[in-house]
Amino acid sequence: MNRIIMLSAVASLFMAASLQAEETLPLKSVNKANEVIDAALEAHGGADNLAKLNSLVQESRFVNYANGQSRKPGPPWDKGEQESFNAIDFEKGLFVTRNAGFGGGYEFDGGSIINGEESWQLDYRAGTAAPIAEPDLNTTSGPFVRVTPALLMKQLQARRQVSHWLGEAEFQGRPHDIVTLVMEVGPGLSLYFDQETHLLTRMERVLPPFGQVEYRFEDYTQIDGIAFNRSFRLLLNGDDNLEVSNETIRVNAPVAEYAQLGAGLEIIPAVVPDEFNLQEIDEGVFLVGGTGAYGLFVEMKDHVVAIGGTQGAAARIEEVRKHIADKPVRFGVLTHHHSDHVPGAADYAAEGAAIVTFKENEAVVRNAAGKAEARLEFVDNRMSLSDGKRTVELYDIGPTPHAEHLLVAYLPKEKILFEADHFPQPRTGPLPPAVPATLAFAEALAELDLDLDRIVGAHSPRIGSLAELKAVVDSAAAAGAP
Ligand SMILES: [Zn+2]
Repeated sequence: MNRIIMLSAVASLFMAASLQAEETLPLKSVNKANEVIDAALEAHGGADNLAKLNSLVQESRFVNYANGQSRKPGPPWDKGEQESFNAIDFEKGLFVTRNAGFGGGYEFDGGSIINGEESWQLDYRAGTAAPIAEPDLNTTSGPFVRVTPALLMKQLQARRQVSHWLGEAEFQGRPHDIVTLVMEVGPGLSLYFDQETHLLTRMERVLPPFGQVEYRFEDYTQIDGIAFNRSFRLLLNGDDNLEVSNETIRVNAPVAEYAQLGAGLEIIPAVVPDEFNLQEIDEGVFLVGGTGAYGLFVEMKDHVVAIGGTQGAAARIEEVRKHIADKPVRFGVLTHHHSDHVPGAADYAAEGAAIVTFKENEAVVRNAAGKAEARLEFVDNRMSLSDGKRTVELYDIGPTPHAEHLLVAYLPKEKILFEADHFPQPRTGPLPPAVPATLAFAEALAELDLDLDRIVGAHSPRIGSLAELKAVVDSAAAAGAP
């Protein structure tokens, strides 16, 4: 469309307004944002050059600090490493990403291809490709765009009409202007531009209740006349989370070759949304959840035992109430201290249930419960919850490569075991070869010598078996895992 006419119309409107009235705060904010954006576009390679930047291929190395996801509940955090590949082509609507690495008792190698009808989610360890039914370039490429100043500048160029100047701030001893950017998806971003160099040095986004994510762009260099940062850091609530070194950066390189599905991958059913659901897997035993977060509920004589502390426990309790209306949740069992496995503490505290955890995790759990009067019960090695008829056995199978202490829940009569983060079960398709955490889990189960039919987990509605666990251990051994 006729952007120049539109912009100049807007500009003359501002001029007319500024003759008639005092510069209001919103007007000042928009004017100042435009000034800062113009200078930043120039510093990052110029508006023309950035407009012509159509494709980008980048290879990076990451060191990641597992904040709230380490073996121990507090710092110093464990370190993981990964390599990542990203390629984007705006004109053709292509995006390819692949991440491989290790950390937290896991090894991973996966990615996505966004290429219209030929879009895939890939797991190279499992050797599978699942079609993506509703590919969304903006959502999938968002994480890459957010860590790449040249692409953020393109966003700012295209969406400057919704940007505001927030104010000035000192960052690393230098004065900066802060301008907002609202992308197609995701929360608003705050961009810090150095007042002297006009380069983007820092960005922030706020994700309640999770906290603040801070991006730092360092070691700028010029490639084909555009400014690229050789290194990047990500901080979570002020703690180091990622240190990234961008090793290869290719401007306007062809991307199409990477968007082809590699040979030898098994095509598995499409990835569909993980809808909230309840399965009664045995009489009075419910596996409830959705969106990758599940909990197990066990009906006892006069109460309910809830197991698993992932986000959304309140909704799961509500769903279970439709089946067990008249019994209170008396115990809320947390599997381990990781940040995605303790939010349930607040919901269990609100129910007046005792939160079952380890003494070592008390600070993390009290913080997640958010209530000074939350009742905690500590497991020392094992705990048995019984009503005389039905029993839930809790075992600490730690230390594992994933967590120092880890609770699994076992129902001896029903031969059901609930675990978290040690036996990943994709909703569809073959199970990937065992990662180190899975090997430790299999060993611990063998030692406990439990009579076992079904294994369910905190991240999947799939019901696994001991035979499947054995198969993934064997396939890891065949692949030469330790
Ligand atoms: Zn975990």
